[in-house]
Amino acid sequence: MICLLLACVDAVHADELVGKVVKVSDGDTLSILLDSKAHPVRLTEIDAPEKEQAFGNRSRKSLAELCAGKLAKVEDKGRDRYGRILGRVYCDGIYANAEQVREEVARGQAWGIDIELVDQAEAKRLAPYADPGRALAIWWAASDVYLEPGDLPRAYLKAAESLGATVEDGTTVVGIAKQAGTIERVLTDHGEIRCKAVIDAAGAWAPAVARMAGVRLPTVPVRHQLVITEPIVGVTADMPIVRVVDANVYVRPERGGLMLGGYEPDPIAIDPETLREGISDMPLDVAPLERIIEDVTTEYPVLRDVAIAELRGGLPTMTPDGHHLFGEATEVSGFWVMSGCVVAGLSISPAAGEAMAQWITTGQPPYDMSRFRLDRFGHAYDDPEVLTRACLARYSHHYETPE
Ligand SMILES: Cc1cc2nc3c(=O)[nH]c(=O)nc-3n(C[C@H](O)[C@H](O)[C@H](O)COP(=O)(O)OP(=O)(O)OC[C@H]3O[C@@H](n4cnc5c(N)ncnc54)[C@H](O)[C@@H]3O)c2cc1C
Repeated sequence: MICLLLACVDAVHADELVGKVVKVSDGDTLSILLDSKAHPVRLTEIDAPEKEQAFGNRSRKSLAELCAGKLAKVEDKGRDRYGRILGRVYCDGIYANAEQVREEVARGQAWGIDIELVDQAEAKRLAPYADPGRALAIWWAASDVYLEPGDLPRAYLKAAESLGATVEDGTTVVGIAKQAGTIERVLTDHGEIRCKAVIDAAGAWAPAVARMAGVRLPTVPVRHQLVITEPIVGVTADMPIVRVVDANVYVRPERGGLMLGGYEPDPIAIDPETLREGISDMPLDVAPLERIIEDVTTEYPVLRDVAIAELRGGLPTMTPDGHHLFGEATEVSGFWVMSGCVVAGLSISPAAGEAMAQWITTGQPPYDMSRFRLDRFGHAYDDPEVLTRACLARYSHHYETPE
């Protein structure tokens, strides 16, 4: 994957704030002095580790070296739910995000990930269909692969069966029975299954399955769409995906043409219970993707003149903070959840599955999973409208820093 960080896409919409940096809290949060008061600023388009996380100190240190005590210019892009200013930050004229991206690459390398910074010429050589001319920082992960989404669950099922699991294909869960606040049975259209633990991994239907157990999940299914173009001369299947993080868009080769997916600014939440035929019944709309294409024709010039061959969509589950929902429901013992995929369920699934298996069977996760706890929001999103608004906002800022 190639990841481009630009500073120019949609910058015209932002107001500008200028103040001295009086505090650097972690790798993506600092405070600037405005009207004699310190205002926290969260850097957008980047997710640096927090203080207590691995590399958190190093990340804070690098932002401090770049910005502490200096004059920062902030392109004001709004406020987060804590009232912090969200924005792109330039310290003494240096784009802090680009510097942090460089740090992120160093951290990835330290974890053994095949990731490196590349210059524009190299990015162009790797993915000739893209034009990285406006990019301020570019990283490249050589070991990323493409997969057919359906192949992954099929492979997991095959592996589970080979280890002795029974797979009940074509079986619908219609109810969940509890005894004294503990899971007792799952009711299906093919009979009952007695069990001590249930894992709700029902994708867009996860909230509906949770309701059967009396559990409320803070997640909302949001329509995610992509288009596939007609074949384009020169585009080959081995070329990498190119993301432009500022524009919330990704493009990669598909069927001889290009596939473009984007996180539109006006997404819509869809209750899958309203879709009689399932996902195939979901209303699609090419217009938001056409608007995204207009924004990035500089980065993907070939998209200017190519026809769209297919429009597709699905229903990933979003959460208010952009982090997954993994863990046991506090109100029902034995009811476990793997949801809130935030459009990354395929990539996270091997690690998440392994961690959850250990957590359920031993009572302890292999590492700190508190960031994903189902009850981390308290009652902040009990109101469905508030929850939906927060999840939609998170979706349309998909490549920006999760809080
Ligand atoms: C266009 C698009 C592009 C994406 N790109 C990426 C990507 O590049 N990388 C990535 O990591 N992720 C990506 N995702 C997200 C990824 O597809 C999801 O995170 C992943 O599929 C979620 O898997 P899941 O098993 O949780 O849910 P699902 O795949 O939705 O599976 C849920 C299953 O539960 C079943 N079910 C529901 N209700 C019941 C019931 N009552 N009884 C029995 N079964 C039930 C459903 O039939 C379904 O089979 C993308 C999603 C979309 C839509």
